[in-house]
Amino acid sequence: MLINGKWKKNTNGDLYKSFNPSNHEALGSIEDTSKEDILEAIESAYIAFDSWSKSSPYERSKLLYNAWKNILENQNSLAKLMTLEQGKTFKSAKAEVKYAADFLLWYAEEAKRIDGKFISSEKSGQKFITQKTPVGVVGAITPWNYPISMITRKVAPALAAGCTIVLKPSEYTPLCAIETFKIIQEVGFPCGVINLITPLKPDDTGELFTSDSRISKLTFTGSTRVGRLLASKSGYNLKRVSLELGGHAPFIIFPDADPVHAAKGLSAIKFLNSGQACISPNRIFVHENIKEIFVKTLHERVKNIKVGNGLDDRSMMGPLINEESIFKIESQVKDALEKGAKLIFGGKKINPNSLRKGYFYSPTIITDIKPNMKIYREETFGPVAPIISYKESNEAIKMANDTEYGLAAYIYTKEISLAMRTMEKLNFAIIGINDVNPTSSAIPFGGMSNSGLGREGGQEGIEEYLETKSIGIMT
Ligand code: NAD
Repeated sequence: MLINGKWKKNTNGDLYKSFNPSNHEALGSIEDTSKEDILEAIESAYIAFDSWSKSSPYERSKLLYNAWKNILENQNSLAKLMTLEQGKTFKSAKAEVKYAADFLLWYAEEAKRIDGKFISSEKSGQKFITQKTPVGVVGAITPWNYPISMITRKVAPALAAGCTIVLKPSEYTPLCAIETFKIIQEVGFPCGVINLITPLKPDDTGELFTSDSRISKLTFTGSTRVGRLLASKSGYNLKRVSLELGGHAPFIIFPDADPVHAAKGLSAIKFLNSGQACISPNRIFVHENIKEIFVKTLHERVKNIKVGNGLDDRSMMGPLINEESIFKIESQVKDALEKGAKLIFGGKKINPNSLRKGYFYSPTIITDIKPNMKIYREETFGPVAPIISYKESNEAIKMANDTEYGLAAYIYTKEISLAMRTMEKLNFAIIGINDVNPTSSAIPFGGMSNSGLGREGGQEGIEEYLETKSIGIMT
């Protein structure tokens, strides 16, 4: 745990282990943060806020800039650790470390642009100004699927704004968080500005982050179920909240699109991180005229995806994070097949008799998906491509919007006007048009409806950590 600038042991002596999902080998022992330790971390961030919030944005920028450089210098070792602890391939892990570093650079730059306004009044002699000020101490909770970038996407804008932070990573990826914090802290952030707690059970953190009066803001990335729980508790205590939650992304291929190009795009994004991404396509709507060639191309690509340990150069897809993930996927696939879906490829565990050898599931394609199937409604978070064919474009858009989620959506078409009309009709906050990677530190990321509140990244990302003061002046 990093508390008040020092790496500390916990007060209760309890340790837990982090495991490699490729082979279930223990990777290291982690301090199980007690409630007392969490309170100490909050207090240290609270004390540090006084001077950090008054520091020059140029000073904050310089530290963030140095942290960016430091993360990139450690890109290979961080990526290796990520592959060991989270499972994704080393190539994907390296890309994630780069993405994680991007947020530090972006907010090193944005720190200098936290400007207010000078506003005219209808009364002569009166002027208004607005000033942006940091919200206070931030409590941050992150998931395991992007174990480093989800940390910097919160830490960088919070620090740039002048907030201090206490962060709790997922209990599945604490080592990635510890290494990231070591590298960031090394550049010399003052004591108490960044604090890391690593409890095995999340309940005390959730309770304190939503109730302790020293915490002004909760930022959470994870499931909609937990986000809703934390938001309701925060609501009672009127804390500011940002939530990045689940998704159920539609991927619409219009009849004029090149089905081969669309199939290549889909296989690149769908099986990335073994499908464990909030923006992973989870319902693929393909026009019936091009379905056959689309499915054939997808099948050819998917059967060549080599599944294995992410540190093996030949592996193109790693394991899932745990056994529960496998159970969830199996249940969705079984339900779909029982209700008439057709299995084109996969649909099974790899090493079925020995999950101890890793939580591997075959990349899977299923067609003939119908609205009465679980997979049509639920986020899968696994390597399954469920395909639905349609006749009319409006029918596809209607089905795409038929979900409680509103995070990402994808459109494939050569017609710009159709793309723009569809983009406007889709109730999703991130839309890729012939683009399977519509994300960057420079643009806002977040969800509508049950996919969350607020945005991370881009100019909007720093606003989540700022208050606006309005000042009237009579001259
Ligand atoms: P999760 O909700 O189970 O856990 C996320 C974090 O919340 C973990 O750190 C966990 O320990 C903590 N947590 C769990 N219960 C808590 C409680 N009662 N109080 C406080 N903290 C608690 O989610 P997960 O399985 O780690 O992550 C997968 C989910 O995250 C998926 O639904 C995915 O779509 C979502 N996700 C969203 C985004 C986004 O930007 N929208 C990004 C990545 C992941």
